[in-house]
Amino acid sequence: MELHHCPQCGEQLTTKKEDTNNRLYCQVCKVFVYENPVPVVAGVILDTEKNILLIKRGVEPCIGSWTLPSGFIEINEKPDECIIREIKEETNLDCRIKNLLGAYQQKGWRYKSVIVLAYLLDILRGEPKAGDDAVDIQYFSYENLPDIPFQSHGVIIEDVIGKKNT
Ligand SMILES: [Zn+2]
Repeated sequence: MELHHCPQCGEQLTTKKEDTNNRLYCQVCKVFVYENPVPVVAGVILDTEKNILLIKRGVEPCIGSWTLPSGFIEINEKPDECIIREIKEETNLDCRIKNLLGAYQQKGWRYKSVIVLAYLLDILRGEPKAGDDAVDIQYFSYENLPDIPFQSHGVIIEDVIGKKNT
């Protein structure tokens, strides 16, 4: 989402230098309008053979593609709660966080930049069943991964398998 107008007064934004950054600026409100990355979560679930659980997206962007279970953090939600909720919605699985794998960054579709908090999780209970934004779910071996459109998800998987972080 490209910002063109001041969120406060609606005036057309200009740019102005602050420190070394050229930032969006409202000449009416006399304030800089800051653009920041948007946080999302993504979850890695492995079976005993280290196959990776992916979901097939039923919504844009990248409808029909396989990705890690993931989603945007709600405004009053903690990241830990968010990944548990997203996985429940998309896979019907109740999970528990094993550890935070790391923070990743990529260009978004709706947002210029997203920060992806990647978690490794264990399944507590539940039968895998696609729901919400997911139309299918499946375990893939690392050697036979489908094309994953979200660049950060590819790096996350690479890091998990590469570092044997399990
Ligand atoms: Zn303004």
